Amino acid sequence: MQPSVSIKDLSLNFGNVKVLDRLNLDIAQGEFIVLLGPSGCGKSTLLNCIAGLLDVSDGQIFINGKNVTWEEPKDRGIGMVFQSYALYPQMTVERNLSFGLRVAGMPKDEINRRVARAAEILQIQPLLNRKPANLSGGQRQRVAIGRALVRDVDVFLFDEPLSNLDAKLRSDLRVEIKRLHARLKNTMIYVTHDQIEALTLADRIAIMKNGVIQQLADPHTIYNKPVNLYVAGFIGSPS
Ligand code: ADP
Ligand code: MG
Repeated sequence: MQPSVSIKDLSLNFGNVKVLDRLNLDIAQGEFIVLLGPSGCGKSTLLNCIAGLLDVSDGQIFINGKNVTWEEPKDRGIGMVFQSYALYPQMTVERNLSFGLRVAGMPKDEINRRVARAAEILQIQPLLNRKPANLSGGQRQRVAIGRALVRDVDVFLFDEPLSNLDAKLRSDLRVEIKRLHARLKNTMIYVTHDQIEALTLADRIAIMKNGVIQQLADPHTIYNKPVNLYVAGFIGSPS
């Protein structure tokens, strides 16, 4: 089967600093990939390249076999959830969910159907008439996930979606995201610097250092057979 996302020799320089260095990664249809690494290793940069929010310096990105390296973000079939919620403060939750679909000119019936489905999946039906200021951090993040969900995208990108939440909410939403993936079975690329999140969510973990993937393997292998001291140290297992 053709990969869902395929990254070929991707490089990105900011000035003369190489932030991504000829990075290669193939992600299978429906796979949950976690990009794990310390702050500054290039995780967000990689995600932003996949989303089309940054121009690459070299290399290609394929989604479902199509070269999207120079496609507009909206034409890539991806939805992105950021660490900060990025909701429209003046709009209700319902409007936040439907806004992009309205702008795209989708028929009203279809918009309503999609908003209702997302609200049901994320259990935010009672919140539809509220504004973001009247939501908790966890509720806001559910709405942010909902905005990607209504677009019916093939690939979800998450950039540290839980890092602004307290420990209890973090573990609740982690379970929720796992459930969401089990239900939707779409491809998810999830960035974190939290080892526990990576070990519990991932089908495969890519451990990054200085814009390069050090090891790509399932959690069990990463934990028990780290390829080097860096991976061992980062994942916290005895080596
Ligand atoms: P991570 O998400 O893993 O914490 P980033 O992808 O945000 O890392 O950043 C990787 C490196 O690129 C860091 O050294 C950061 O300082 C640098 N960087 C990120 N964005 C920019 C930018 N817009 N201009 C210059 N350097 C940047
Ligand atoms: Mg980041």
